[in-house]
Amino acid sequence: MARKTTRRRFLHSVGLAGAALSVAKTRSLAGMLEQGKPPILSTAATEKPALLGGKPVCTGSWPGWPRAGKSDEEAILEVLRAARWYRSRSVQEFEEKYAALNQAKYCIATSSGTTALYTSLGALGVGPGDEVIVPPYTFMATVTVVLLHYALPVFVDSDRETFLMDPAKLEAAITEKTKAIIPVHIGGNVADLDRILAVAEKHKIPVVGDACQAHLAQWRGRSAGSWGTTGCYSFQLSKNLCSGEGGAILTNDEAVADACFAFHNCCRNRPNGRGAANYRFGRNGNFRMTEFQGALLLSQMQGLEERAQLRSENAAHLTKLLREIPGIHPAKEYEGCTRNAYHLYMFRYDPTQFAGLSREKFLRALRAEGVPVSAGYTPLNKERFLLDALRSEPYVRVYGKKTLDQWPERNQCPENDKLCEEGCWMLHTVLLTTKEQMEQIAAAVAKIHKHAAELAKA
Ligand SMILES: *Cc1c(COP(=O)(O)O)cnc(C)c1O
Repeated sequence: MARKTTRRRFLHSVGLAGAALSVAKTRSLAGMLEQGKPPILSTAATEKPALLGGKPVCTGSWPGWPRAGKSDEEAILEVLRAARWYRSRSVQEFEEKYAALNQAKYCIATSSGTTALYTSLGALGVGPGDEVIVPPYTFMATVTVVLLHYALPVFVDSDRETFLMDPAKLEAAITEKTKAIIPVHIGGNVADLDRILAVAEKHKIPVVGDACQAHLAQWRGRSAGSWGTTGCYSFQLSKNLCSGEGGAILTNDEAVADACFAFHNCCRNRPNGRGAANYRFGRNGNFRMTEFQGALLLSQMQGLEERAQLRSENAAHLTKLLREIPGIHPAKEYEGCTRNAYHLYMFRYDPTQFAGLSREKFLRALRAEGVPVSAGYTPLNKERFLLDALRSEPYVRVYGKKTLDQWPERNQCPENDKLCEEGCWMLHTVLLTTKEQMEQIAAAVAKIHKHAAELAKA
């Protein structure tokens, strides 16, 4: 009912109910309705693009992030007043609840997603001379943690269809020095864990999952972070579950849990930090979560499932509509991905289907229509910080100049380079809205498609 009204409102607002019929050249309006396609897709297309002075398609507002309510205030105040600021019962309760939520035996809360990954590698004894396999389409922290251990990152190219590590290219990257594999569930889309874990098991290499963007994502019905040796999460402000900063490691291996705990907490014993751990690698630090973060996360976990469902429903609707527009390719999922967390809504843009309109201009035109969209990652394997680190004295000392000089050539990722030119994103908050707003986004893209040649010239 509400949807019908909205449709009528749009038709009315553009005053082009008749025009909608005349412009639908390839598909009749009746045909579109038959297939359940909202008429706004064809009506909006007849209007002038907002970038050229027309009216923006998106009329609603997009929600802010993070969201804080009364229970968050109470949680923080309770910790504050009880002077219980240091890791204790709130963090432990969070660890228990987060492990249960993700069908994992153990959870170790950390100060960030970066320190969750850093701790995982430390607990596995990764060090100078070791190689760690990473994908190139990810946030810098995935490779930062490898550098912090003076290990050598080895890149496996992306599968452009999914934005994830190409599982077919993993085995070729393994050497006798490979000490860990870090598949990343980027944007909340789940890496092909069947194939990655099969290769890892064959070569007896631990898998440290980077699930920092994949809260509640699932592979074959089980939490994405509960597969492999460890699964690492981030609760940084932008993430689907957040406490400003924070992180967590999941594992089903008690020895790994003990080692992670010792590494992250001054070589002490799990779960409460009492006594010295029997921890063979010795190296350790303080990467603890504070009680404020623990309490806030417990409070923020309320509604997590409902928000995840809303994102999934809206993303599915948007994907169905965007797939109909030539040159727009929403990220595909592997067959085993039973739930995408949609931290990002990712799609590829093909300018050849848009009269050569550049991605930058396409994004500008889309933003002018009121769609908060941005270009995705740039190639991580070519980032300055990484190349600088690999040229630094300690690296040259460990790996030798020849190996490091050959590194860029060995770590080329041509598919990922293309992906970085095509990738577009919207943040998960865009999906915490309505079906009508998804239809407006698709209508805005359809409008730009229709006027692409004009926009390219402007
Ligand atoms: C956010 C993020 C991290 C790092 O988490 P922080 O909590 O910011 O340290 C690591 N990997 C990916 C893919 C991320 O998105």
